[in-house]
Amino acid sequence: MKISKAAVAAAVAVALSLTATACGGKEGSAGDPQSVKPGQSNAPALPAYTVASDVTLDSPVLAEAKKRGKIVIGSKADQPYLGFEDQATKKRSGFDVEIAKMIAADLGFGEDKIEWKTVDSGVRETAISTGQVDLYVGTYTINDKRKQLVGFAGPYYKAGADLLVRKDETGITGPDTLQGKNVCSIVGSTPLQEIKKPQYGAKTTELAKYSDCVQQLLTNQVDAVTTDDSILKGYAAANPSKLKVIGKPFTEEPYGVGINKDDKALRDFVNTSLEKHVGDGTYKKIYEGTLGLSGSTYVDPPAVVRY
Ligand code: GLU
Repeated sequence: MKISKAAVAAAVAVALSLTATACGGKEGSAGDPQSVKPGQSNAPALPAYTVASDVTLDSPVLAEAKKRGKIVIGSKADQPYLGFEDQATKKRSGFDVEIAKMIAADLGFGEDKIEWKTVDSGVRETAISTGQVDLYVGTYTINDKRKQLVGFAGPYYKAGADLLVRKDETGITGPDTLQGKNVCSIVGSTPLQEIKKPQYGAKTTELAKYSDCVQQLLTNQVDAVTTDDSILKGYAAANPSKLKVIGKPFTEEPYGVGINKDDKALRDFVNTSLEKHVGDGTYKKIYEGTLGLSGSTYVDPPAVVRY
């Protein structure tokens, strides 16, 4: 594939702007709530997680992780406020990252015993079912089709597909205004499946990473990006002068923790961990110190569904 110099420059610009803003950089002004970043001194404090000892569980995945001395967690690296990796410091931040750290601590793994793996949407089921990751926490919608391949604890959050457009866009006001428009989304994601329905009449650009879709939007190669509102708000908060979210969610996307399909003991344990920390206020603290900073107001999560 030939990549033009302009495309490379634009990609670097997006990466730099995300990195700079996600760790407290230029976009947004002081006093603008969108300029508050996770970990910044004026951001709500994130919880400290108590690392459990002597966890015994009839879980093959946990047994392997204990042997290894590390738990391998799959997540996203390019979703500010959800699952983001600062390319300079390699530090991970965001709602999903904190949820993963909370669960890992209950399983007996402190932050220094977590090995993070960036796994994009299109390869999640493979990564989980072949044991490349022990847990997957990355804006992962629970649905019946995926349940044939992986197990899900949760849901721990409910998002909905929405649209991200350039700030000066006036023609796109919702999914029913996408006739003939070029909409970018991600291979293997549920919002891409939705937007391909003939009723919308949209053309699609299908890429592997959301940050690449955002770059194409910033450089006028596509008209909109579709995925979960939680993700899009993070990009809008990182580029407040250039991008906006329409704000009319048109699907339901309940997020689950992806786990090997056959490891019911681990799935039950993670469900209990989620319930416990919703109850003790940890979940709310995590939310307010991450997702809450990109404009998602707090709502209690849906009840977990055990099966
Ligand atoms: N939640 C949707 C999904 O699991 C979109 C976000 C993503 O691709 O991670 O497909």
